[in-house]
Amino acid sequence: MNEILIHKTTDFFQQTFGSEPSKIVLSPGRINVIGEHIDYNDGYVLPAAIDKIICFAFEKNNSDTVKIVAIDLNDEFEVGINDDQKQTDSVWTNYLRGVLNQLKMNGYSVEGFNCVFSSNIPVGSGLSSSAALECGFLFGLNELFNLKIKPIDIALMGQKSEHWVGINCGIMDQFSSVMGLENKVIKIDCKTLDFEYHDANFSDYSLVLFDSNVKHSLMTSAYNERRQQCEEGIAIIKNNYPEITSFRDCNEQHVLELQHVMSTNVFKRCLYVVKEIRRVTQACDALDKGDIETLGKLMFETHQGLSVDYEVSCVELDFLVNTVKEVKSVIGSRLMGGGFGGCTINLIKKGQEENVKNKLSGLYQDEFGIELKIYDVKIGNGTSLYIA
Ligand code: ADP
Ligand code: MG
Repeated sequence: MNEILIHKTTDFFQQTFGSEPSKIVLSPGRINVIGEHIDYNDGYVLPAAIDKIICFAFEKNNSDTVKIVAIDLNDEFEVGINDDQKQTDSVWTNYLRGVLNQLKMNGYSVEGFNCVFSSNIPVGSGLSSSAALECGFLFGLNELFNLKIKPIDIALMGQKSEHWVGINCGIMDQFSSVMGLENKVIKIDCKTLDFEYHDANFSDYSLVLFDSNVKHSLMTSAYNERRQQCEEGIAIIKNNYPEITSFRDCNEQHVLELQHVMSTNVFKRCLYVVKEIRRVTQACDALDKGDIETLGKLMFETHQGLSVDYEVSCVELDFLVNTVKEVKSVIGSRLMGGGFGGCTINLIKKGQEENVKNKLSGLYQDEFGIELKIYDVKIGNGTSLYIA
């Protein structure tokens, strides 16, 4: 599938600019296997880059002008390389303007260039097409102008570009898009940015995402509320246990003992966070042993926690997870991302994928009158140059 995308992008480049691109870059989306809503709670996440990508083609154009075409949107923009970058109504261009702004802010100088890009990452489904966009674009300019920016700094500058657009994201998406490795998940310590790779050979199981195709507007307000409740919770814990400095030092007992001085909601949020931090470590141990069944069980537990204690699920996501829970060939499932819509991530026994997909699509359509979207994903490499 990616070969088709690469051809489409390079052919388009050739037709538009009349020459072969000098650099072709592939930049992936990402999944998060486990570790949800704990990036801002001093926890760990376990993401991986996937085999869905944005393909970019670049060349220098010996001018002071940047010309960029978004093939999928049939849209383009031009900007002077020395212009001050400003937000515009054309949202997709802002991510790239943000990157150009980052280069300027960090003292990197580039000349005029042409760029076209096209993607097979579903947009707005929680696979982080935006991180692939920022990081792939920056990676390409780094190559084209030999800027010598380190991969980790590409991720950090990608994140800052997204902040510039107005989305206050953590580092996970950009980090995974840049640092991903085939068949590995990355355990990232969101506090220190330390990271380690773990083998993610799912052997007899396939990764399939079910896209609920809904987005409930509660997301932003609930996110802010959860952050605030967790801050309140950890403050109470620290007050009572001076040796504890963050959620990662806590166990369930600490939280249970303080239930009487916490509001019900704060107590439930803390309980989820402490359990989820532990589950990420358990998931890494399970992957190291090739024990995919245990990983699957942990994913179901995470969903339960997100639904009951953290309360960021919704009826559609609960339906998707609870339905496959009854199916023997699905050994793990949970909502992935912030919640209130988006995808579930599932581990399905090889050979049974089509069965499960057909059954679930029918049931979902009957229950909600909504079409279920389905994405097969494999764990792939991070942003890289494509050499034909
Ligand atoms: P996601 O979960 O996919 O990252 P976001 O809302 O964070 O969702 O980012 C999606 C935005 O990224 C789109 O609205 C668009 O502005 C930009 N984008 C992603 N893919 C493309 C593409 N192929 N062409 C143009 N813009 C894109
Ligand atoms: Mg995004």
